[in-house]
Amino acid sequence: LSREGATSTDASGLQRAAGELGPETAGEPTAVYAAGLERLQRRDTRLDSYVDRYAARTHGMTASVIRALFSVANRPEVVSLAGGMPNISDLPLDVVGGALHDLVVSDGRRAMQYGSGQGEPVLREAICEVMKLEGISAHPDDVTVTVGSQQGLDLVTRLFCDPGDVVLCEAPSYVGALGVFRAYQCEVVHVAMDEHGLDPVALGEAVAALKAAGKKAKFLYTIPNFHNPAGVSQTLERRTRVLEIAQQADLLVVEDNPYGLLGFDGDPLPAMRSMDAERVVYLGSFSKTFAPGFRVGWVLAPHAVREKLVLAQESATLCPPTFSQYAVASYLHNHDWRGQIKIFREMYRERRDAMLAGLADHMPVGTSWTVPAGGFFVWLTLPPGLDSHAMLPRAVTARVAYVPGTGFYADGFGSRHLRLSYCFPTPERIIEGTRRLGEVMQYEADV
Ligand code: PMP
Repeated sequence: LSREGATSTDASGLQRAAGELGPETAGEPTAVYAAGLERLQRRDTRLDSYVDRYAARTHGMTASVIRALFSVANRPEVVSLAGGMPNISDLPLDVVGGALHDLVVSDGRRAMQYGSGQGEPVLREAICEVMKLEGISAHPDDVTVTVGSQQGLDLVTRLFCDPGDVVLCEAPSYVGALGVFRAYQCEVVHVAMDEHGLDPVALGEAVAALKAAGKKAKFLYTIPNFHNPAGVSQTLERRTRVLEIAQQADLLVVEDNPYGLLGFDGDPLPAMRSMDAERVVYLGSFSKTFAPGFRVGWVLAPHAVREKLVLAQESATLCPPTFSQYAVASYLHNHDWRGQIKIFREMYRERRDAMLAGLADHMPVGTSWTVPAGGFFVWLTLPPGLDSHAMLPRAVTARVAYVPGTGFYADGFGSRHLRLSYCFPTPERIIEGTRRLGEVMQYEADV
């Protein structure tokens, strides 16, 4: 997935775009987005009187254009192909509600009390059952429950990385992981990927280049299944090869797998963790297979790491939320969660198909995109000369939102790319979104 230079977007660019498209299209979303960008710029001028007091680790914590984007993307008149919110409209709320009621009535005093720093045993056992679907055989003692896999990322980075340490990541990579790596002042080194996932040759080269510079990465962070944002998956051969390279280089692998059970074709591929239990730290989540609001994820670490991980969790939260854990455990015990995942898969497949059909119909010549076999995302490469960041104001004015590719690189690359998500809007809205996007791209190409 190629890398291109970045440019910036500003509020005046937005106003220009609105003016050129005419007053009939320059409505509310445009103004809201412009105001959001202006707020960001004001923050950049360092009016914050606390600025000298912040720790150095906060320097990388800057609000991005994505923040301003999300303030408009949720408006009903905008087709948002930007957010990655799981679509839980098919969840049976009466069943979940009944289970929560029963939990409070029958076990409320325990479920609403502080719990174990590692997480409740009943949930850790159920998590081991879930992981079996991807070939992982694990003991509940090696599972630590987290506040979503996002907190798993935070704890793992806290455990392994000092300021300046190198983390290897796919190019592009998950924006939330890059934020964590920035907060711990890591140096991110991107490794190329293609339609089969992380490129082992590029990984070997990156490892060798680091070695030549007297450095060694603390870990490789990878999303092998239905990548966010790239939409591609690592083949089994690639997984094997990546693990061989990791072994030769004595490199830890952090496997982030929130979408693994949301594949559209056939059985899931074996998790990397199932192929090397000592080298792979696995991050899992119920955000996409159940619901994100419970904020329940987990880390399956090599046995030796478990104790430090639990200590890190205790210092971060005392214990992950007990009530959420019992709620998830009760859902897994009393509900056909495998059947529910099938329902989710079918719903996402229908939306993926709508997006691919819309793109085929509406994208200008010279555009290319990945074809996801699961998950939420398509990664789009613009025709030469177009810039996803600079084009965003016009897209907002045309009532369609996407995420510019630059957010998914630590180094400002990605301006010829953008991420489209198909998880949330209806198939009809997705197709309409691709139509609007196609028009914006055509307009940009013509001027
Ligand atoms: N990793 C990846 C690749 C993700 O896409 C997300 C959610 N967008 C997360 C981790 C975090 O998810 P959660 O904290 O809800 O488990």
